[in-house]
Amino acid sequence: MNPFDDLAAALARRAQQHLLRRRRVVDGACGPELCVDGKPLLAFCSNDYLGLANHPQVVEAFVRAAREHGVGSGASHLISGHHRSHHALEEEFAAFLQRPRALLFSTGYMANLGAIGALLGREDLLIGDKLNHASLLDAGQLSGARLQRFLHSDMDSLAQRLAAAGVASRTLVAVDGVFSMDGDLAPLPAIVQQAKAHGAWVMVDDAHGIGTVGASGRGVCEHFGLSADDVPVLMCTLGKALGSFGAIVAGSDTLIDTLIQFARTYTYTTALPPAVAEAARAGLRILQAEPERRALLQARIQRFRRGAQQLGLPLLASDTPIQPLQVGDSAAALRLEAALEARGILVTAIRPPTVPAGSARLRITLSAAHSEADVDRLLDALAGVMP
Ligand code: PMP
Repeated sequence: MNPFDDLAAALARRAQQHLLRRRRVVDGACGPELCVDGKPLLAFCSNDYLGLANHPQVVEAFVRAAREHGVGSGASHLISGHHRSHHALEEEFAAFLQRPRALLFSTGYMANLGAIGALLGREDLLIGDKLNHASLLDAGQLSGARLQRFLHSDMDSLAQRLAAAGVASRTLVAVDGVFSMDGDLAPLPAIVQQAKAHGAWVMVDDAHGIGTVGASGRGVCEHFGLSADDVPVLMCTLGKALGSFGAIVAGSDTLIDTLIQFARTYTYTTALPPAVAEAARAGLRILQAEPERRALLQARIQRFRRGAQQLGLPLLASDTPIQPLQVGDSAAALRLEAALEARGILVTAIRPPTVPAGSARLRITLSAAHSEADVDRLLDALAGVMP
């Protein structure tokens, strides 16, 4: 028997369970109007929450930097790839997040793997929310630390895990700031309080909160008034609201020096192109200079929620750009995706294992780039397809 026969069987099983993923080919720039597999669609599934991915200043910063500095960085940060553009982005991000230092990673996935791997080993414990992003889970597994998961945002469940932690090890409590598939915020003040009482550190992955949450877009820590002392490890991605690519971990000098020495996903990979860092710097400047983008985004979110409530749609408790509609069954979620597509709307069905079994959903995301008319088109389409 061919040793790879079981791969085909696994693929067939996935298809049978309505869990097979497929890629669509997009032409043109990221924005509400996408050309997908050659067809124009109005999209509600990107994480470009502030509409910066194709902003002229972001594009110009990228192009100018590519002309000046070329494309490839040529080496890792610790060899000769650490460009002034990377360094400036780190300094500007540290100032924005009001933390002493920041370190640029190539992706959020790698930032989580690198940070947790550098901070925890076999003797240690990682406690995470059950709905944490896959990269936090994978980071824990790779670190070799003992893993404990608490029920989603359930502080009694967290208390039990902390009480069982013992005193032997370093304990890190890691959570998404805004849960990527549900859109709700982690109850951070309570998490911080419990962690501190047990001598544990808190790490927040604010991939979806940065730029969208908090009066000036500093994310969930700003929203809850939490300091660097409360959340000593803060991860933010640059490929969502910032409109670029990459990720930042921010914290103390000791944290950043530790990551530079021990985060393997920092050490053993090529530094991302300086032009990408320049695009992120431009995104950060716009994010800070134009708070009206956040206000516009919030207006679109509330317009969608009001309309969805009038339609009696099953909304989750979220005021963030992530507005999922729970469906449950994966086949039903796929049918709804197809029905929306037939009406010119792109919303991708999210199915297990990205979300727990039986909780397939339409993950609708809103952007400041959507117009009121776009939101109304989505609502009209949902009225026509939702059971
Ligand atoms: N954390 C969360 C909560 C995310 O949603 C994502 C991206 N989906 C990541 C981390 C990974 O970030 P990146 O896409 O930059 O690898």
